[in-house]
Amino acid sequence: KPDLVERLVQRAGLAKPFPVVHAVDGVDIELRSGEVVGLVGESGCGKSTLGRMLASIIPPTSGDLRYRGQAFSALTDKQRRRARLDTQMIFQNPYASLNPRARVNEIVGEAAKVHGLCSHAELDDYVSDQLDRAGLDPAYRFRYPHQFSGGQRARIGIARALAVQPRTLVCDEAVAALDVSIQAQIINLFMQLRETLGLTYLFISHDLGVVEHLSDRVVVMYLGRVVEQADVEELFSRPNHPYSQALLAEMPRISTGKKRFSAIRGEIPSPLDPPSGCHFHPRCPYAHERCQREAPALKPIASGHLSACHLNDTA
Ligand code: SF4
Ligand code: MG
Repeated sequence: KPDLVERLVQRAGLAKPFPVVHAVDGVDIELRSGEVVGLVGESGCGKSTLGRMLASIIPPTSGDLRYRGQAFSALTDKQRRRARLDTQMIFQNPYASLNPRARVNEIVGEAAKVHGLCSHAELDDYVSDQLDRAGLDPAYRFRYPHQFSGGQRARIGIARALAVQPRTLVCDEAVAALDVSIQAQIINLFMQLRETLGLTYLFISHDLGVVEHLSDRVVVMYLGRVVEQADVEELFSRPNHPYSQALLAEMPRISTGKKRFSAIRGEIPSPLDPPSGCHFHPRCPYAHERCQREAPALKPIASGHLSACHLNDTA
């Protein structure tokens, strides 16, 4: 709400309105039905913002989402409501979004009830089904969130998302806060749900090992722009963009547990004032004069493989 922001700015005695951060800038991303797309990049690169836009939690300031081939803005209210339900977000800390005073059956059943996905009489069975799908004992449905472990709370968050019958889950660091053994269980649950329900995933993670393990396709973002995207094998074996190469070089190897070398020089610049031209130029070992003045376009370099680097023009 712009006027609310303005009033808050005035009340806080700030002279200028907040600067506009283009957390996501000219990103064109496509999720195909049934696939798992991994979204990687350093924190602050716009991954979460993009995920939230896809899940209709925040609107894009310009541009549009297309939903099953149709512009979001062209949908009827009813279609838009369904489209919003179709993409559900799974957060890193489900506890923060679970009402501590509500029992699990209310938490999981509320949206389904509001959106008329099941009748009042069916609700108890409906909630039990969602808990069962998420790997929680339906007998737990009368308990409160604090009575569960971290992994169980993650399952409650998943059951709540499943209750609105989504087609896509946007998982934003969804397993990052969990113990490694629990992470594996939740990841297995995601993959199992993909099989049984045909779900599509946007899997946002800083953990490249997890992304490599479960993605079909990987999108790399840097300061609000997509710099590379490719099928997972292609990206991990032949990263093209210098930033992707550096990210992968930072990835701990399972054999040694050590990073190969620290390839990314310097700090990630502020998204408030991104570098000119190619945003990566101050940190890129291959930066040349053109990189400072001209942003490289994301272009195909091989089948299904896109990269945004001027070096591909001279090759
Ligand atoms: Fe490096 Fe230039 Fe390529 Fe950007 S466009 S990644 S600065 S070589
Ligand atoms: Mg984030």
